[in-house]
Amino acid sequence: MKIKFWGVRGSIPTPPTSEQIEQKMRMVLEKAAETNISTPEKRELFLRNMSFVEAGLIGGNTACVTIEANNTLIILDMGSGLVRLGNELIEKQQNNGGLDIHIFMSHTHWDHIMGWPLFKPAFYSQNKITFYSVHADFEERLNLQQDFRFFPVSLSHMASQKKFVVLEPDSEITIKGISIRNTLQYHPGKSYAYRVTYGNKSMVYATDSEYKTLDDDLSLSHVNFFRNADLLIFDAMYTFEEAIHKEDWGHSSALLGIDLSVQANVKNLALFHHEPDKDDFTVQSMLHRSLNYKKINYPKAPLDVFLAYEGLELKL
Ligand SMILES: [Zn+2]
Ligand SMILES: [Zn+2]
Repeated sequence: MKIKFWGVRGSIPTPPTSEQIEQKMRMVLEKAAETNISTPEKRELFLRNMSFVEAGLIGGNTACVTIEANNTLIILDMGSGLVRLGNELIEKQQNNGGLDIHIFMSHTHWDHIMGWPLFKPAFYSQNKITFYSVHADFEERLNLQQDFRFFPVSLSHMASQKKFVVLEPDSEITIKGISIRNTLQYHPGKSYAYRVTYGNKSMVYATDSEYKTLDDDLSLSHVNFFRNADLLIFDAMYTFEEAIHKEDWGHSSALLGIDLSVQANVKNLALFHHEPDKDDFTVQSMLHRSLNYKKINYPKAPLDVFLAYEGLELKL
C-alpha cells in the first residue's frame, strides 16, 4: 500500500511567514557559500542534499492522508490538505471516467473537515464518494458546515454521488480486500483511530488522541490496536511538558508515541498533527529530542521515528 501525506498540521492551516522563509533562505545561502555550486548539476545535487526542513516546508495544511492499495483510494480525514489532493485527482481524471473514493473520518473538528467544501471531485456527478464515520450524525454535521450562513454552496448542490456509512465502534469493514478497523480515542467530542490492513501490511492512523497514563485500560487497548503495525501515524502535537499542562485538551506527545510504539512493536512512527504555533525548526528540534529519548530509553528497539510532512510518500 502507498501512503501519502496531504496535510500534517493540527488545529488551523499555517502558511509560512516571510520571516520564516527568509530564515530558511539565509541558512541555504550560508551552506551554499561553503560549497562548490558552480554548475547546474552541482546546484541540483546541493539542493537534493538539503533536508526538507531547510529547503522545503513541513507544510501548513491540516489533516489529510491517502492510502492507495488494490486500485482503491482511501482518504483519512478532510482537513485543508484535501483541497490539493482534489485538484490532483481532477487533473489525473481527464477522460478517465468517474472516481470511486472512500473517506474515513476520525472526527469532525474543523481541522479535519474544512477541506471538503472545496474538494473539486465532489462537484462532478460521475464521481462516487462514500463516507465512513462512527459519528452517526456525520451527514448532518457536514450539512451544517455548508449552511448558507457559513458557505455559499450547500452539500446537496455538490453533484457527486454521496453515500454515508455509519460504523459501529470497534468494528471492521472490508473494501476490495482492504480491511479497516476503528477504535475510540480520548478526545473532546470523541475521535476514532483506524487500522488499515492489506495483505501482510498494516498502518494505523491515530490522531487527536490523549493518553493519561501508559497502563490505564484505554492505553493498553491502544497498544493492542497498534500491535505489530508497519506504520503508526501519531498525534505528536505537544512536547511532553505541554502535554502535562494541557491535560484534557485531547492531544499527545512524540515521547508517549515512542513508549506506545515500542510496547506495541510498531516499525515506523510518523509524528503528525504538528502544533500551528511551532515553526519548522521547532518541530524539527522536537524530533531530535524524541530521537534522543528513544536512544536512551530503547536503544535496541527496531523503531524508526520521523516527521510527517506534506508530500511525504511511504510504501509498505
Ligand atoms: Zn485535529
Ligand atoms: Zn480534534
